[in-house]
Amino acid sequence: MAELNLLQKKILADGVIKSGDVLKVDSFLNHQIDVPFLSELGRQFKRLFANRPVNKILTIEASGIGVACLTAVHMGVPVLFAKKSAGSNMDADVYATEIKSFTHHNVNRVIVSKKYLNAADHVLIIDDFLANGCAIEGLMDLAGQAGATVEGVGICIEKGFQGGGDALRKKGVNLKSLAIIEKMDAGTGTIVFRE
Ligand code: 5GP
Repeated sequence: MAELNLLQKKILADGVIKSGDVLKVDSFLNHQIDVPFLSELGRQFKRLFANRPVNKILTIEASGIGVACLTAVHMGVPVLFAKKSAGSNMDADVYATEIKSFTHHNVNRVIVSKKYLNAADHVLIIDDFLANGCAIEGLMDLAGQAGATVEGVGICIEKGFQGGGDALRKKGVNLKSLAIIEKMDAGTGTIVFRE
């Protein structure tokens, strides 16, 4: 078996498996934030996408923002986060799409301002988790509406058994995940990573 990487070790030490195939890592990733640790993940994303001409990081509120910002520090680019919006009369000024939430089971309309995303942009999409792929598909849709180029997608924790990541790879998306969970069992608390 290959040696576990930093994030895989942290998941085994601090992750809690919940019912409904949800992994809680809110002690370090998306509620309380371990800033030096996320900064290290950001450094890894910078290395993984070093050959791409990225000028902006795109993520979605709220849980992608922390790791996106700590990646941006290393890459020296701004972060744009898609906002959840109830709708407004300023639709002409935004790109909008709908994203089904994996954790909350509702559909959110999310927007980015046309001011901050356009055809000259080369974006790296970053998020904390990838499950069925709805969040990433939505962010790619927003980039597509703007005519921006998606240079890659960086994910902290991909739940490989939910298939979203493999579907994106099949479409040719340059997707890199720092940890891919192949199996997890809430009953026994076991987690198996993809090699
Ligand atoms: P997807 O859209 O790929 O189905 O799900 C990804 C989104 O749902 C991420 O933005 C993340 O916030 C949330 N998510 C999916 N699975 C998990 C999980 O196991 N734990 C946590 N904390 N969030 C998750």
